[in-house]
Amino acid sequence: MAKRKKITPAKISNLIKKYLRNASLKSPYRQLVLDKAKVDAATHQCSDCGCYIYSGVSDKNYKELVSKHPKQCFKRGKIEVNHIEPVVEPNVGFVDWNTYVSRLFVEDDKMNALCKECHEKLTKEQNKKR
Ligand SMILES: [Zn+2]
Repeated sequence: MAKRKKITPAKISNLIKKYLRNASLKSPYRQLVLDKAKVDAATHQCSDCGCYIYSGVSDKNYKELVSKHPKQCFKRGKIEVNHIEPVVEPNVGFVDWNTYVSRLFVEDDKMNALCKECHEKLTKEQNKKR
């Protein structure tokens, strides 16, 4: 008989977090955050460093955009949505699922749009405290 693979509570917990995070991507409040940061169809502005983030694939459009805003800082990539109050408070840690869900699905004023670098920097600082 084949040995059953052990599914630990931590594995189940991580799976639930992954699905909840995925579901939160469809939050209308998240969309509002992205709309507020939108400069044009393929460009958003990072609310921390202020750089324009171009997510398009056209080099020609990118060059046109840069020439239109000569004093602006530019980056290529995707804008990310950050929870201003972290979903899991670094000094507290995971409390329970109700707390997790209520901190994950917040209104637009509790989130901001950041470039990858600013979001990573913030997450690293929070992870250090965890
Ligand atoms: Zn930034």
